[in-house]
Amino acid sequence: MISSKGLSVSGISKNFQSGGRTVQALDDISLSLPAGKVGVLLGPSGCGKSTLLRMVAGLEKPSEGEITLNGSAVEHPGRDRGMVFQDYTSFPWLSVRDNVAYGLKINGDSSALNEGTVDHFIRAVGLESFAEAYPHQLSGGMRQRVAIARTLANYPQLLLMDEPFGALDPETRWQMQDLLLNVVRKERTTVLAVSHDIEEALYLGDVVFFLSRHPGRLKETIYTDFKTNLPANDREAFLQSNDYRRLELHIRRLMRDEGRDAA
Ligand code: ADP
Ligand code: MG
Repeated sequence: MISSKGLSVSGISKNFQSGGRTVQALDDISLSLPAGKVGVLLGPSGCGKSTLLRMVAGLEKPSEGEITLNGSAVEHPGRDRGMVFQDYTSFPWLSVRDNVAYGLKINGDSSALNEGTVDHFIRAVGLESFAEAYPHQLSGGMRQRVAIARTLANYPQLLLMDEPFGALDPETRWQMQDLLLNVVRKERTTVLAVSHDIEEALYLGDVVFFLSRHPGRLKETIYTDFKTNLPANDREAFLQSNDYRRLELHIRRLMRDEGRDAA
């Protein structure tokens, strides 16, 4: 594809100074994620996934290399990128509606048009009956849906997620994965998510970037084209497909080679 649309990470290395010595967290990572696709950074704990995501967010500076989003260099945090963290980060004293509207308000935009945007995303995450509720009245999965709605209401060009469903029970986690895929497909949002869970990575990702440890290097890029032949939102068909089983085993071996049990 001849297009500058999407995310491009090129020759990224990152060193940290820690206790008088230099720790190399990432070594020469290059990857590209076309606009509208879901990419997942997968790898063992400590391989640098969060560090890479934070650099794409503009929260951390690379030691070497360049990151561009839709052709523009990433140097600072910006409204073109929205981040959802694992820990619930919305405001307990604001209702669901006001939490979702919050980002629009701080961006100086509280027009009628944006009232519509707020309602649109509250509906998109299935919280219309809870719009006036407060976070403490919601389950963990619902709170995470508020965070997703709030972030998407700003129409980021890139949605960044760091293990967003890691704190949820398995059933809720599956529901959230489907909900996320439905929303981002509909809105055509580009997503870069971090996971250390193989099933989650293959289920969410159009492309999975597998990083090795010490320092983090891009070991393999795995495309999940096989899913286009499977029914959408059908976890069983996905888990039972030969392609999934083959890739899951393959990545499990990559994880094991990294010296960690992937289980
Ligand atoms: P992951 O998210 O894959 O578990 P991280 O990106 O959190 O990995 O960390 C990658 C490596 O970089 C680890 O060895 C970690 O200790 C180190 N690291 C991360 N942030 C810092 C920091 N601010 N200062 C020093 N070392 C750091
Ligand atoms: Mg991390």
